[in-house]
Amino acid sequence: MLNKNNKGLIIVLDGLGDRPIAEFNGLTPLEKAQTPFFDQLASQGMSAMVSPLTPGIPVGTHIGMAVLMGLAPKDIAHLARGPVEAAGIDISAQQGDVILRCNFAHIEADQNRFKVLDRRAGRINQHTNTLAEALNSIKLPHGIKAHFQAATQHRAVLHLQGKNLSADISDTDCSRMIPADVQPCRPLTEDDAAIQTAEAINDFSHQAHQILLQHPVNKQRIKQGKVPANGILCRSPGQVNSVHNLLNYYKVKTAVISAEATVIGLGKLFGFTTINQPEFTALADTDLNAKVEQALQALQTHDLVYLHIKGTDICSHDHQPLHKSQFIEKIDHALSKIDISDKIIAVTADHSTDTTTGLHSGDPVPSICSSPYGRRDKVTCYSEQNCMDGGLGRLSSNAFLLTILDQMGMLHNFKKEDAPYIAPLHI
Ligand SMILES: [Zn+2]
Repeated sequence: MLNKNNKGLIIVLDGLGDRPIAEFNGLTPLEKAQTPFFDQLASQGMSAMVSPLTPGIPVGTHIGMAVLMGLAPKDIAHLARGPVEAAGIDISAQQGDVILRCNFAHIEADQNRFKVLDRRAGRINQHTNTLAEALNSIKLPHGIKAHFQAATQHRAVLHLQGKNLSADISDTDCSRMIPADVQPCRPLTEDDAAIQTAEAINDFSHQAHQILLQHPVNKQRIKQGKVPANGILCRSPGQVNSVHNLLNYYKVKTAVISAEATVIGLGKLFGFTTINQPEFTALADTDLNAKVEQALQALQTHDLVYLHIKGTDICSHDHQPLHKSQFIEKIDHALSKIDISDKIIAVTADHSTDTTTGLHSGDPVPSICSSPYGRRDKVTCYSEQNCMDGGLGRLSSNAFLLTILDQMGMLHNFKKEDAPYIAPLHI
């Protein structure tokens, strides 16, 4: 029977959707994996292919997760990743501050330019707090104050405070085409604020390189045969804005379990309970049992729980299809202790990632909405191919979330006030 307020669990496997892998005879990592638990969920519900935003557009985790976590589609354009990442590591920004997402990188001076040799400094994951601390002595022009803080692995956040700042500036990150040069930060408008913010970023980048070059942590890394984290790349500048959220609008009490600063940051921005623990690594070696345990506990006190697992996306970025497929099997096994007879359980992803290229793709993601009380389609196995035949067809992730909330009994009859929270039908 459909009760009001069924509990909901949304399992998000980051970058799960994939494309055929040659060494798997054209199967994807999910199609190759044995997943009895997911198959049971597929059998007890409806499957779909879900587009994170709109069909064909690749998105990053912050957009894919934000919409899945109830961000009103009209607010997507205002959501920059910098402020999200900052919220995740408890940086409290004020209106007007500019926040950028950064990477520790390995760079090399080449006359007047800087060449990027490794955008992630060998995925550095130790002593980044010490390196970040050393950059907090940097003084900038125009009375701008810089605060630099390490986040997950090679990631960090640069928080600028001052009177006249603007987020209309370009990235210094060269994106994924390596080797490439560190790009100078350019103002994107003729506005004074944009000009002086860009100058401050360039000044910060140069000073940071000088400090990191001499830093004992990097000297030690070179001795150990590792690449030094001697450069900072900046991207996704943003200013703090308030955003509208569908789950808050429908008064759904929500918790998010994740080790990824971006996802925790979104949870904090939206006012959800956020759960992260040191044994959650955001890699394929994360403690899956502890995560599942936390999800079950959170379900006692929340209507809806997101269980986000990052390792699948990392395997794809690292071109490791077998590792991804095996990790999917491990996840399936860890989840198998969950009772599926008394709650709504969805399985989905924030976006697809093509393990062959290592890049996010615009492909829709295979998804299941399992409900002991809902309709069932003929899909009995969780995979890209099977979900294409799913009874829910093609949905946007906003519509997928509404479908889950409807199964939970959380929605009321449509009123015109609901419209801003709902994406127009475009599929
Ligand atoms: Zn990714």
